[in-house]
Amino acid sequence: MFHVIALGELLIDFTPVQLGNQKLVFEQNPGGAPANVLAAVAKLGKSAAFLGMVGEDQFGRFLKNVLLDNNIDVTGLKFSDTVHTTLAFVHIFNNGDRSFSFYRNPGADMMLRQSDIDYDMIRQSKVFHFGSISLTHEPVRGATLAACQFAKDHGLIISYDPNYRAPLWPSILQAKENIALGLQFADILKISEEELEIITGTKDLASGASIIFQQGVKVVLITLGAQGCYYKYAGGEGSITSFAVHAIDTTGAGDAFLGAFLYQTSEMRIDDICSLQNEEFAALIRFSNAAGALTTTKTGAIPALPSLDQINELRQQFVIKK
Ligand code: ADP
Repeated sequence: MFHVIALGELLIDFTPVQLGNQKLVFEQNPGGAPANVLAAVAKLGKSAAFLGMVGEDQFGRFLKNVLLDNNIDVTGLKFSDTVHTTLAFVHIFNNGDRSFSFYRNPGADMMLRQSDIDYDMIRQSKVFHFGSISLTHEPVRGATLAACQFAKDHGLIISYDPNYRAPLWPSILQAKENIALGLQFADILKISEEELEIITGTKDLASGASIIFQQGVKVVLITLGAQGCYYKYAGGEGSITSFAVHAIDTTGAGDAFLGAFLYQTSEMRIDDICSLQNEEFAALIRFSNAAGALTTTKTGAIPALPSLDQINELRQQFVIKK
């Protein structure tokens, strides 16, 4: 049995490190939001399994070891002997903003086929999580949608974080259309303000969340950086600010937030989540905010994930006042 099973991209992020004054080197880091979410779930003590594809190369073997080191089941991780592991080079601008150059023409993560999926593993899980990076190209798009349908048919909670990355889509219109394909399956949707606008055409949190809610999503989580999260579910809606921390790198904060949310709800049925009192639901969000906030206090995604004790300690403290 797995509490959370996730399907999606697993890749190398080459992050720049300045050596001395001139020499720039790139550090090899594991990347891919679905694996980060699983690492967060596993670090907090629930079981997690990954479905996806890497290349039969040194990067693919490195990534498999990272999953194993983080207590993530790798039975469903496949290796391509024809296509290399997907790579991304990160560029950091002087103001701290980042851009990505993807080496994915193609990349192994895109090559996962329906026949590669271990449906028994999905059947044995409680939550199925996915993103939209596995909806950009075939065959992984068909594999993702087939896995979503199977998970839905077998009563799993479906969690979706589109994780929009402009360079991976031929056009914003195609991104919109394909992100919408995933939306029809989602019980829990975690998005940024940018993704809210792509999906609904509005930046307004309440009206955007309403539009998504009307499409059948049961839990809408719009993360807002230091401002925390705007949430909407059957029992209410509202905004909860995050905790005051000294943020140095926001990589993986959204994945830690969602992993912490799924950690808390993976033993529940979606109807139980929808029936929570507003105060109980708000407590889930505060816990998730604490996980996201702590992740910003260290560099990287997986190495920065907090423990249960660290989250509980921060939860005792005051939230930032708006
Ligand atoms: P994403 O990485 O998906 O864009 P966010 O940047 O909104 O997501 O961060 C996810 C969560 O992490 C937020 O909802 C918040 O709880 C927490 N967080 C992010 N940045 C900060 C920050 N600077 N201070 C405190 N909490 C933060």
